[in-house]
Parts: sequence; C-alpha cells; structure tokens
Amino acid sequence: TKDLSKVYRVGGSPVVALNRVNLSIPRGSFTAVVGTSGSGKSTLLNMLGGLELPTHGQVHVAGHRLETMSETELVRFRRENVGFIFQSFNLIESQTALDNVAMPLSFRGWSRQRRRERARLVLHQLGLGHHLHHKPSQLSGGQQQRVGIARALAVQPSIVFADEPTGNLDSRTAEQTLNLFRAVVRRFNQTWVMVTHDQHLASFADTIVSISDGRISNITQVEHDDTLRKVAT
Ligand code: ATP
Ligand code: MG
Repeated sequence: TKDLSKVYRVGGSPVVALNRVNLSIPRGSFTAVVGTSGSGKSTLLNMLGGLELPTHGQVHVAGHRLETMSETELVRFRRENVGFIFQSFNLIESQTALDNVAMPLSFRGWSRQRRRERARLVLHQLGLGHHLHHKPSQLSGGQQQRVGIARALAVQPSIVFADEPTGNLDSRTAEQTLNLFRAVVRRFNQTWVMVTHDQHLASFADTIVSISDGRISNITQVEHDDTLRKVAT
C-alpha cells in the first residue's frame, strides 16, 4: 500500500479509520495485524481484499491496482485471487458442509461433480472427512470454522484474508487453528493476512503489524523453528 487512507463520514463528520498507511507484505508470508478495537484493522483488511475502496492512496495486490478498479472488476479480482475467513463463519445453515464448500466454486463453471470432488478433498485435508453431510448446527464451533476455512481454500486463492478467525473458539482450538494456518501458508505458498486482537495468537505469524489510530505503530518479525516444532509433535 502507498499512503493508504480511509475516511468514513458518520453523521456529516469525518472518521479517519486509516491514515496514510505504507505497508508491504511479501508473497508467501503470514502476517498478523494487531491493535485495539477501532484502530483500523478490519478497514485495512477490507482495503487489501478489495471489499472497500480507499479514499486516498494506492493498494497494489498481486499485480492489480485496486484503487483504480470498478466494482465489477473488484468482484472479479476477489473471486480469482482472494479467500476470506470471518469470525462468524458465514455458513449457510440449510446446506451440508460439503455443499457450503462446493457451492462457491460454481462461478468457475465447473460441473457439480467436479465441485463436490474438490470440496470433499479440502474437507478431508482439514480433518472433516467424516462430517461432509453435517449441517452447520450439527458441528462444533471448531468444526464450523474448519468448514469456513475449507470454503476459502477450495478455490486455491493466492491470498487469504482472515478477520478475527478464531474469535469464537476456545484458546486450545484457536491455537490448533493457527498451527493449521501456518502449515497451509507453507504448503500452498499462499500469502495470509490475519487480523487479531490477541498478541499470543499473533505470534504464530511471521510478521506482526501493530496499528493504532489508523497508523502503523510497529512491525515485528517472529522467528519460528519449524523443524524443531515438527520433531516435537
Ligand atoms: P475491532 O477490533 O473492534 O474489530 P478494528 O480495528 O477492526 O476494530 P475498524 O472496524 O477498522 O476497527 O474501524 C476503524 C474506525 O473506523 C472505527 O473508528 C470505526 O468506528 C470506523 N468505521 C469502521 N467502519 C465504518 C463504517 N462503515 N462507517 C463509519 N465508520 C466506520
Ligand atoms: Mg475489526
């Protein structure tokens, strides 16, 4: 991003959610964005993911200049490049896990069978092979979250944005989810940006970007010893 700013208008008065943010996120890295409530984390994520347009500045993502794009172009950009994971898993209650993951693949023009094959594979990889036909209400919170993750990953996006993805999970499940994210980033060489207010969970990322009052206040690199972790588990 370059001088990225977002100003909202609330009842006629301006709210500066992001103030001239310059941030560079390397491909294939896992970045956590931390900060207090209202600091601008979600706003930043929404700009990076092409969900909202900035009022000022530039957003370059995967070779695209998002601030110059029309809504139609942004929709296309999101579909082809980006996976989103939210705190509320946004699953469709009337559909099974399999259908929740398979349905968004329809824009690719794939046959129903091909969509379902891909969905089955990704759900298997996330340990949900025995829950394909469960509806969201028949799954635990952690399992629902993994269905949400499977849905985001099924399109094989190059970039994944996650906003408080573990907000509804207990701390143990949250840690397991973060370990899963780390493994996925490495395995598929994806770029992940995750918003969290939890410093401990942020430490699972490679880079921690702190924001406060719409500005970047600090950037920390985290050292991980993946070989050691693998031996230990
Ligand atoms: P939280 O941790 O509570 O989710 P956040 O860091 O994600 O907070 P943002 O949602 O990015 O914070 O909001 C940043 C600022 O912008 C806040 O002051 C918020 O009130 C304001 N804001 C966010 N979205 C809008 C909107 N659609 N209209 C007006 N103001 C908004
Ligand atoms: Mg937020």
